[in-house]
Amino acid sequence: PPGGGSHERATRRLTVLSGPSGVGKSTVVAELRRAHPEVWLSVSVTTRKPRPGETHGVEYFFVDDEGFDRLISSGELLEWAEFAGNRYGTPRQAVIDKLAQNVPTVLEIDLQGARQVRESMPEALLVFLAPPSWEELEKRLRGRGTEPEDVIARRLEAGRVEMAAEKEFDTTLVNTNVQDVCHRLIALMTA
Ligand code: 5GP
Repeated sequence: PPGGGSHERATRRLTVLSGPSGVGKSTVVAELRRAHPEVWLSVSVTTRKPRPGETHGVEYFFVDDEGFDRLISSGELLEWAEFAGNRYGTPRQAVIDKLAQNVPTVLEIDLQGARQVRESMPEALLVFLAPPSWEELEKRLRGRGTEPEDVIARRLEAGRVEMAAEKEFDTTLVNTNVQDVCHRLIALMTA
């Protein structure tokens, strides 16, 4: 169809990075920010409380439950999911604008969100970030030291479910070394 080709090219620039909690997605994203400023990273909205060092508008837009409800009902979220007792979502318009400008765009979201993007934007590249081993993932989740035990337990449980989802993704990157993962991610995005 007329214009179909350009739409396809634009949406293919959307890359979804997902994987179990604690696998190191935010470390990879931080390295991407540092080493690849040409890549735009979507800033999600969340009802989670900020961790020490997190800044509103940088890692997340922090909102309350009512604020999140309003974003859902006004259709402003491209996808959203509940994860370990908090809600997370991707603001739709910013992603559409960046794709229209042909800016390579990355969403760092959970598995449920990745599934929704697969449905609404089938040209998106879905990348699964895997830990070197399950033992390594558990160690990283506990080692973070910022969450109480019940929160860690919920995240481990979610992680087990998420590990089984690898086969739904276009490709897997094993997170052995953060620079290496970024390098391979950029290579995938520009292929
Ligand atoms: P954290 O609380 O550790 O920052 O994030 C918890 C989980 O929520 C991670 O797996 C992260 O990828 C996911 N997440 C962050 N932003 C979004 C979003 O906008 N949508 C969805 N579906 N998940 C998100």
